[in-house]
This record gives sequence, structure tokens and C-alpha cells, in this order.
Amino acid sequence: MIERNVPGEAARSKLEDDPRAIRHRLKTLSKDLWWSWNEIGRRPFAMLDPELWETVRYSPYRLLQKVDSNNYASRLAEPSFRKVAARAIVAHHEYHNRRSWYEAQSDPMDPPLRIAYFCSEYAIHESLPQYAGGLGVLAGDHLKSASDLGLPLVAVGLLYQHGYYKQEFRDDGTTRVIYPSFDAEAMPLDDTGVRLDCPVGDRTVRVRVWAMSMGRVPLYLLDANLPGNKLEDRALTASLYQGDDDIRLQRQVLLGVGGYRALRLLEEVPTVIHLNEGHAAFAAVAKLSELVHGGMSYEDAKQAVRSSTVFTTHTPVPAGNQRYDAIKLRDALKPVLEPAGLDPEILNTLGREDPHDQNEAPCMTVLALRLAERVNGVSELHGAVSREMWKKAYGQEDPDQVPIKHITNGVHTGTWMAPVAERFWSEAIEYDKAPGPKNPCWARAQTVDHRAFWELRSSLRRRLLSFVRRRLAFQSRRRGESPERVVRSRRMLQDSALTIGFARRFATYKRATLLFHDLDRLAGILSHDDRPVQVIFAGKAHPADEGGQAVAQEIHELCRESRFDGKVVLLENYDIEIGRRLTSGCDLWLNTPRRPFEASGTSGMKPPLHGGINCSIPDGWWVEADDGHNGWTIGDGSPAENEQLQDERDANRLYDLLEHEIIPAFWDRDEQGLPQAWIERGLHTVATIPEWFNTDRMVAEYLEWGYKPASIQV
Ligand SMILES: *Cc1c(COP(=O)(O)O)cnc(C)c1O
Repeated sequence: MIERNVPGEAARSKLEDDPRAIRHRLKTLSKDLWWSWNEIGRRPFAMLDPELWETVRYSPYRLLQKVDSNNYASRLAEPSFRKVAARAIVAHHEYHNRRSWYEAQSDPMDPPLRIAYFCSEYAIHESLPQYAGGLGVLAGDHLKSASDLGLPLVAVGLLYQHGYYKQEFRDDGTTRVIYPSFDAEAMPLDDTGVRLDCPVGDRTVRVRVWAMSMGRVPLYLLDANLPGNKLEDRALTASLYQGDDDIRLQRQVLLGVGGYRALRLLEEVPTVIHLNEGHAAFAAVAKLSELVHGGMSYEDAKQAVRSSTVFTTHTPVPAGNQRYDAIKLRDALKPVLEPAGLDPEILNTLGREDPHDQNEAPCMTVLALRLAERVNGVSELHGAVSREMWKKAYGQEDPDQVPIKHITNGVHTGTWMAPVAERFWSEAIEYDKAPGPKNPCWARAQTVDHRAFWELRSSLRRRLLSFVRRRLAFQSRRRGESPERVVRSRRMLQDSALTIGFARRFATYKRATLLFHDLDRLAGILSHDDRPVQVIFAGKAHPADEGGQAVAQEIHELCRESRFDGKVVLLENYDIEIGRRLTSGCDLWLNTPRRPFEASGTSGMKPPLHGGINCSIPDGWWVEADDGHNGWTIGDGSPAENEQLQDERDANRLYDLLEHEIIPAFWDRDEQGLPQAWIERGLHTVATIPEWFNTDRMVAEYLEWGYKPASIQV
């Protein structure tokens, strides 16, 4: 669209002749994380210094800080560089100035809407390790789509000094947890100038509020690491999910109460609050106390908060729903509630499934359920599981009476689709990233030329494997392995083999080792030289999760058994980059959670953007996506007597699928060497999955069901 735009054309050619303007505007561009989901915006930076580009983890912002000024000047003297730069600048400018989908669909008579989205982590780009896993990826993708669609949304989170840990495996497969040192300079942060004193129990923590630009959406990040603060206060934003319950509780006060109050100081008072997971529930408490402070009765204020709050729950594992000691909870929020004349004891009443049970530890999820009228799970199945799980909190026997619905998660297409694939679909099916929740192009995938599609798949796989080999060689060198082994890692894996990927947080319910249930049978599957099959694993366990780390260690050891050596590999430090590369290049994406513990899952939505195919337990989003022809489903989801039997049954079903369906579909070739059955399934995947399982559709659903009806002015 931009290419054809005449004013854009004129602006671009004028810019192309103006190196000073280019330099100035690239700097502006580098501070807008828009580049993280628009490849056109990264291109000039990649070109500026390709080697440095890798060193700075593909961050334009960091690149401009570090680039050699002579080098930059000589690049600016090159017309070809200026051309690429001008394209990026104009595309960025147009992004911010075009009429948005939201504007186009809204009625000028609608009351103004201002959404505040709260989440404890955001995964935006590999250069910003401020996330642990799926929750952060979902939140980052939500903001990107909100920006693309033009929703009036601001986001609130915490700025972690060390972010999430970097994972290395020792020789014996145990995990080394490394927290990178903090460099605020490396992040495109703007100091908003806002400072506030956030009451946290009997302390007052001074907070600085930073802002990052996510296209049209500002992300405000609270930072307690200020020189005047006591060490224990500064530690509140030291790193993600570290520390004991007391620290978590305090950190959540900072996010909810500090975050809500920051919005007032920023003059961004929301008409709707979206709590993404229970961690953020105190934002609703802050609003409640503000309203009562302003003169409303408790009941009226509670109703006002409820009707203007949307809550998304993500956790079907009971232990994942944080509970606190009743006294500690009360004390932590006393200075928020008492000045408004509220009895802190209300928190315990609101946070208990049975408000009269003094022995029940109050729960963040229940608190959020009680303070939000609109509550959703993140897939159809998870909606049902949540209604059953929380019926007591609603005083219901019948889960159908529980008012929790679902909005199925999605992924942000521009973030997760490899540029090669984007170019391919632009030509083959007229893919246009012109935003809007409905993109009719995907259905045309059925008509794509089989050979061309297979060439795309093969090239994506080759790119992935060359990345994986580089990483394996690097891991091997770092562990001090023999030069022969290092060289061997550069030759591991085969370019044409059926490549299976599994990358996840190594939470035990994800059953990363299910594929290894019967080692002999797996070895048999991997042993056919004429039909090679290989598996790439990556995954991080929570730093305190010993069970999860044992999973990593087990896989690490199995990779070294001679029968799996070079065919099954484990990459260190699963992050957005590894996730993106694996989901674009793997042929088959394996998902083996213990049903129904995968609330949605989103990684399986990424391969279909590239024609990669899912093989999954019928859990989370996959239950809705599976039409019998766009992937393979392991079992029918019926419960087994116990976990051992379930594992055994699921593993055997997986081996059956591999042996009888998956491997033949990939390796049976026609006279032209094409795997027709595989290609048809791959194209059918493209035709049926990306059009629905994306965050544009998801955010539009939140808008209609949640944000618009919940928006009230107080
Ligand atoms: C997509 C993605 C996730 C979410 O994956 P699921 O395991 O399916 O929930 C987590 N981490 C990273 C790095 C991802 O890219």
C-alpha cells in the first residue's frame, strides 16, 4: 500500500537526498519499538553494520549508540543505503499518520475510551529480556495489535533490572542461571519525569516511571531501583518472578497500586482496566479506594470498579493461582485502604472463594474475579475449565451459571512471520499486512503452487538449521569441548530431514520428555537413513523449579546417547529469537501438555504462518483449530486412570502417528520429488489457522466484548 502512495513516494525521494534528515529520523525511528514487528524498519540498521547488528541483538537503538561514526558517515554517503533508510522512515511515518481501523469503525458519538492494560511481563523483542514466557509473549503481541488497530490503549508494567535469567547448561546438564547486569542505556526508555511514592505495607517506595513507544501504544514501566530507596525496596524490581511470597506480594502492590496511581499523574486515567492475569489485581483495589476516597460508598465504588474492569485468567493449574497469608495481604494494602476509610479486611473477604472461611488463604485470582464483571479464559476449553474451577467463588454448583467466557489467544502476525515467508505470501496470495481483524487472503493458500511452497519450506528449514548448528558449535566451544566435537556440531543435522521442534518453558505439565517415553521405539523412528527425522529442543525452566530443570538435564543427557547423537539436539537459552526461528523453520511442531493444563498455548500458532504443521494433544487453542486435516492430534483427550497411564497412552499414540502418518506423509515423494500429502496438509494449515489465531482478531474481540461495554467515566 505504501509503495503505491504518491505523497509517500515524493516524500521518500526528497528524503533520499538528505543525509542529515535521514540521520535525524533514523534516531527517532530507533526509539519506537515499531521496528520489532516491521522488518522494513530494521533493514537500514542491519545494513549499517551487519556484524554489530548481531552483537546488539538486532536492536536499532543499541546499534546507533555503538556504531562507529565514520562508518555511519560513509554509509550515509551511499545512495543505496539512503534509499533503504528513506523507505523505513516513510513507512514509519505513514504508520503513525494513517487512519486506523479503530477510528474507521468507531462512532463519533461513542463515549471516549481509554484502556489501561496491566501485566507483570512483556515480551517485545530479544534485545529486551523482560519476560519469562507465554504470558509475556501474549501481552507484547496484544500491544502490537492494539497499536496496529489504533486502539486507545496504554500499558503498565515493571522495569526489571536483570530481566529474566540467561540459561546455560553445565557439562552434566544442570542449569546455570545467569542474571545479566542491567544497562538502562541499552533500552529505548524515555523518562516521563513522573515520580511517585507507592505505599507498600509499612514502607514507602519511591518509583520512577519510564515510557517505551510501541508504535501508537505507550508502555509505562515502573522502576524502584532509585538511589534514595533502601536496598530491599530497590530489589522489588530486580528481576522477574524471583524471591519469596513476601517479595511477590510487594511487587504486585507496586504493579497494581503504583501503576494505577502513575496513570493519574501521567494524565492517562483509564475508563477501562484490563488485568492480564491475577498479578495485576491490585490496580482494581487502587481504583476502589480512590473512588471511596472521593466520596462514593463502598458498594457503589465496588460496582463501578467491577463494571469497568476486564480480567483475563490464564492459569488452570490450581497452584499457579497465587494465594497469600491473610494477615500479610491485609497489612500490605492497609496504607492504600485505610486513608479511604476502608477496612483492609475487605481484601480477605474479596479474595476468598468462601468469604466466610477464615482458614482459606486469599487468592489473587479470586480477588480479580470479584472486582471484574467481565472475566475470560484464553481458549474455549480453558473457559470451561475456569467455570468449573471457580464456581465456588461465584456461589454456584453449576459451572454453566458461572459468568466466565473465553477469548482465544492469538499471535501477532508481523512479529512471528519470517520476512521470507512474508514476501512469499505477498506474491502467492496477495498477503497485505494492512491491519484489520479479518484478513481474507489466507483462504487462497489452497491454490498455491506446490513446488513453490515446497521451496519456501525447504529454504526456511535450511535457514533454521544453519542457525542451530552455529548455536550448537557455540555451546560446545563454551563448554570447552574438544575441537573435533565443535566441528562436529557444525555438521550435525540434515538439511532435508523431517525436522521436529519442541520449545517451551520446561514446566513439568508440558511433558517435554514424552517423546522419550520409549527410547527404543524413538531410536527406531530416528534410525532410517533413507527417511531421516531429527528433533530440536529448547526450553527454560523457572529458576526455582527443580522438576523443570531436571527435565532439561534429562534431555541434555539423552542427546548424548550415541543413538540420538546429532539427531536430537538441545539449544540453550530459549528466547524470542529461538522461538521465532524454530517456529518458522520446523516442519512439525510438537505440543504434548497434560490436558487440560495448557490454558491456550500460542507457539503452535506460529508455524502455520510458514506452512509448518502441528502435532498436538487436544488441549488449549488446538481443540478449536483442529479440523482433522490441518495437523495431527494425539489421542482424543479422554482422561486416563492415572498420570503414568496417560503418559504411556499419549506417547504410544504419538509414536503411531509418527510411524504411520507423519513420516510417510513427509517422505513419500511423487515423480517430481514432492511430498504431495505433506504439502496439501501444510497449505490447508495456512488456509485455516492464521486467519483466526492472531492478535488482531483477539484484540478486536476484547474491544467488542470487554472494552467498549466496560468503559465508564468516573
Ligand atoms: C510463543 C512463545 C511462547 C508461548 O508458547 P507456548 O509454550 O505455546 O505457550 C513462549 N516463549 C517464547 C519465547 C515464545 O516465542
